[in-house]
Amino acid sequence: MASGAGGCAVSRRISPWAIPGLLALAIGGAESAGCTAEEIAIAESPERARAIRIWKERVDRVLDSGLLPIIDTQSTYDGRVMEIDTIRAEMDRLGIALLAFAPKFRGAGTGSEESLALWKQHPSYFVPTTAEGTNEAWYSQDGPFMDHIEKAARNGEYFLMGEFELRHYTPPQKFKLGLAPHHDVYVPPDSPWGRRLFALSAETGLVFQIHHEPEDGLLEPVERMLRENPRAVVIWCHLAQIRFPDKQKRFGPAYVSDLLGGFDNLYFDLAMSAPGSRYQGSGFVHNTFQNPDGKILPAWRDVIERHSTRFVMGTDIGGDRWRMYAQKVSRLRRMLPQLSVETRKRVAFKNAWFLITRRRWDDDAVRGARDG
Ligand SMILES: [Zn+2]
Repeated sequence: MASGAGGCAVSRRISPWAIPGLLALAIGGAESAGCTAEEIAIAESPERARAIRIWKERVDRVLDSGLLPIIDTQSTYDGRVMEIDTIRAEMDRLGIALLAFAPKFRGAGTGSEESLALWKQHPSYFVPTTAEGTNEAWYSQDGPFMDHIEKAARNGEYFLMGEFELRHYTPPQKFKLGLAPHHDVYVPPDSPWGRRLFALSAETGLVFQIHHEPEDGLLEPVERMLRENPRAVVIWCHLAQIRFPDKQKRFGPAYVSDLLGGFDNLYFDLAMSAPGSRYQGSGFVHNTFQNPDGKILPAWRDVIERHSTRFVMGTDIGGDRWRMYAQKVSRLRRMLPQLSVETRKRVAFKNAWFLITRRRWDDDAVRGARDG
């Protein structure tokens, strides 16, 4: 529907503070409500608009320096052990424009608000991100965690929801610490809390991340939830991470290409293990995206080029590995020149910009130029 003067009744009727509703319109409801994306952007709260303006200045600064900006969409924040000034200096040096830092939830007073506090201290560097579903608080589906996430997502101060673990094999760090086989979990996407998560994304417009080891028998429940919740937007983390190939035969370039063709609300991130490294639980080289020399397999490269608006980058640092930041960024930087010029810009920052701000970067760039 065209939205002439006065046609955007719905967005004007919503208070500037009712941001989640506006964001939901931005995803799928704008046309039917007679609103253009730009009208919705105008109706944003002053605080959100200011945050986006500050981020845009920083992305522009990285562009001006001659580096391709990267928006790091997936990392774990642990304020108890991380040296934030060191991380900020690394971000400056490495051309990381923004970092979405999702804290752990460890009970009342922890979790999402730590990311918000960090952003308030350094508003140009970080993206307020709700707490991760990566520990017992989420697995148990009992206790205050899901209420905490819903409250945070609805208050309009966050821009992304951090990684929720569905199927998760024991991670490499646990093997190093001798803690295997702990942390081998499955939280079905259609479990009660899984359903609340999809519904929350649809309601608020906030994008959420999932970690889901793509076992053949566990693909269908995710597809069904994407189908039943077309307004929920999902970033599936760690594209092409295969740790037990015997039970993960379907997930490959052809499957992912079909999936992206079928679901507009699905994205993937390229947070990969080091090319050639082996997963301790099986001995399998779990990065099936690249050869050990870092070269992207042609079939995967084709999928990214064909669906170039659907991939984002993450370093996946955490409290136990944040000093590896430069190393992880350099892995991402080695991928980018293997993609075509426009695709590498999308994957490095434009797609993430859209998922976080719900504005297309190119529209913002045009608007910025007009304003300036
Ligand atoms: Zn993960």
